[in-house]
Amino acid sequence: STLTKTDILKMAEEKNVKFIRMQFTDILGIVKNVAITVNQLEDALDNKIMFDGSSVDGFTRIQESDMYLRPDYDTFTIFPWRPEEGGSVARLICDVYTPTGEPFSGGPRNVLKKALEEAEEMGYEMNVGPEPEFFLFQLDENGEATTVTQDNGGYFDLGPVDKGINARRSIVLALEEMGFEVEASHHEVAPGQHEIDFKYAPALRTADNIATFKFVTKSIAHQHGLHATFMPKPIFGENGSGMHVHQSLFKNGENVFYDENDRLGLSKTAYHYIGGILKHARAIAAITNPTINSYKRLVPGYEAPVYVAWSSANRSALIRIPAARGNGTRLELRNPDPTANPYLAIAVMLKAGLDGIKNEIEPPAEVLENIYEMTPERKEELQIESLPSNINEAVEILAGDELIKATLGKHVYEHFVIAKKAEWDSYRTQVSNWELEQYLNTF
Ligand code: ADP
Ligand code: MG
Ligand code: MG
Ligand code: MG
Ligand code: MG
Repeated sequence: STLTKTDILKMAEEKNVKFIRMQFTDILGIVKNVAITVNQLEDALDNKIMFDGSSVDGFTRIQESDMYLRPDYDTFTIFPWRPEEGGSVARLICDVYTPTGEPFSGGPRNVLKKALEEAEEMGYEMNVGPEPEFFLFQLDENGEATTVTQDNGGYFDLGPVDKGINARRSIVLALEEMGFEVEASHHEVAPGQHEIDFKYAPALRTADNIATFKFVTKSIAHQHGLHATFMPKPIFGENGSGMHVHQSLFKNGENVFYDENDRLGLSKTAYHYIGGILKHARAIAAITNPTINSYKRLVPGYEAPVYVAWSSANRSALIRIPAARGNGTRLELRNPDPTANPYLAIAVMLKAGLDGIKNEIEPPAEVLENIYEMTPERKEELQIESLPSNINEAVEILAGDELIKATLGKHVYEHFVIAKKAEWDSYRTQVSNWELEQYLNTF
């Protein structure tokens, strides 16, 4: 790491840090915190902080509950906001270890690190740039989230300023103070919908950034009296929130996806990586689109991908190749959404791509027609498959994909499936308003 223990202790003292949040994510990608005081920081940096793993969803059973946190020194960051008690708060992102000193196989960050080791053995560094989208909604008089946006909620009479735009500006400033390089931020298509893009970075750093981005956005929105949600499709009939993931492989500082002699400027390695992602795309969806609600976004008509295909031009395809070449050569996977655990999502995308490279999987021809407008016969002819239509189907497809299962490892895979089956069972037995509207009077 770039930062040493002494650096961190010094920074903590200079910036009057009182508390440190030791962070990691559970299998579903929710950020967990073990809060310590600055007096414990040295112990924390010596990997001495323990927590009860049995209290974390999908982690461990009671009998093996002690887990250790090993902080990644380079993730030491001081939050730009202050607690009421004074002083400041910092965080360290941690890897979870067992009492015997092994990386815990249920830790998502460990899963990504393992996948990255394989890339490294092949000489590759993976770079990832995400485009997360989210909605900003108003809070009601009890402080509960609504689905009323600032844009269409003018009758709440909040004056001429758009609270949404103000909140987004504060989010960007907070991220920049925390070391993010924000490349773009803009209003999205739906009312109340926003996007903030930050600069690509090595895969592990980007996964950490996505996890951080989500809770920073929620905190700052709250400070503005708004609720930020990464739920993919909060409003029927409007565009949903996705998180396109741009990815490329570098070797010795050069982008190996670029080949100036190719018609499209793409190397064999790039084509094979595309081939690998397309091969595993339907199984990967369980991880990149892990909620019931994720699949309400993946329907025709709202700029979200539905079909397993790639294109150097059109945005209806699952994989798009943006126009940049040279070191900017990359592919953009368009189905992921921000409910994905960023560590697991990047791990499965990478391993699918590496499978393509190792086994020289040729992708099908790129699709230049608008797939949404194709007849079923034409899709059949081009053998264009659809993404799964719900999480249950996605989990079933995942069960048949040994490579993706192995990438997750037994522990994560099994706990993930248990959680998703429970979610599906609870969902499918509900009686929705839609059903009442359809049937209550008719029958
Ligand atoms: P879009 O046209 O889909 O809006 P952008 O052109 O805004 O996409 O690019 C979005 C992301 O791509 C950013 O996070 C950017 O940093 C990232 N990016 C740029 N070059 C690379 C690269 N070589 N590898 C991975 N990501 C990259
Ligand atoms: Mg964009
Ligand atoms: Mg967008
Ligand atoms: Mg963009
Ligand atoms: Mg995009």
